[in-house]
Amino acid sequence: MNPTAFSSLHLKAPLLKNLVSLGYAEMTPVQAHSLPLILAGKDVIAKAKTGSGKTAAFGIGLLTRLDAASFRVQALVLCPTRELADQVGKELRRIARFTDNIKILTVCGGVPFGPQLTSLEHGAHVVVGTPGRLLDHLRRGSLDLSALHTLVLDEADRMLDMGFQEDISALIAAAPPKRQTLLFSATYPESIAAMSGAIQHEPVEVSVDEAH
Ligand code: ADP
Ligand code: MG
Repeated sequence: MNPTAFSSLHLKAPLLKNLVSLGYAEMTPVQAHSLPLILAGKDVIAKAKTGSGKTAAFGIGLLTRLDAASFRVQALVLCPTRELADQVGKELRRIARFTDNIKILTVCGGVPFGPQLTSLEHGAHVVVGTPGRLLDHLRRGSLDLSALHTLVLDEADRMLDMGFQEDISALIAAAPPKRQTLLFSATYPESIAAMSGAIQHEPVEVSVDEAH
């Protein structure tokens, strides 16, 4: 079997069919290296450059673990900016098409608070957003992370550069310790290693430097 074909991963049939319909014939290198680990439930720290398909790597992982019947926030994706969070939300919705009815909510700073409160009240399976605003919601009681099982830090190096370290720590303190934590970063400075040590459990490193 072709080891870089999505069909080698034993994904649910509707998800696999959808990937094919999106034109995702083969896994990108970061997907091929990280997805078997992610699907096995490991904590992964992945270093790969922009445009390498990181969203689908964690997206396929978190969607596979979701229980659609439980309408609680089971996966949280932290992104450095609203633009990036919007992109991730869009890509996750594309990947989730035709699978069980999965609600993916984007919650970022720089937009009015009220509509976010209403959306969060209605519930979601997956929340994507920026750390500061998510922490505001956590503190007001409008974000409940007690059922979280997948936490993703996307562009973790940029989030640290932007000073989100404390907000991220406060969010993580409200999540169950027994969870899968996936950390994606374009660079791997000492600060990322320290953060990984603090929030991940026996992480497996995946490094893909060549463009696909
Ligand atoms: P990154 O987060 O690494 O910068 P993205 O997840 O945004 O990259 O993906 C970059 C582009 O590649 C997106 O347009 C996405 O739809 C596309 N893509 C992702 N995985 C695949 C794949 N396996 N085959 C073809 N295109 C893909
Ligand atoms: Mg990305």
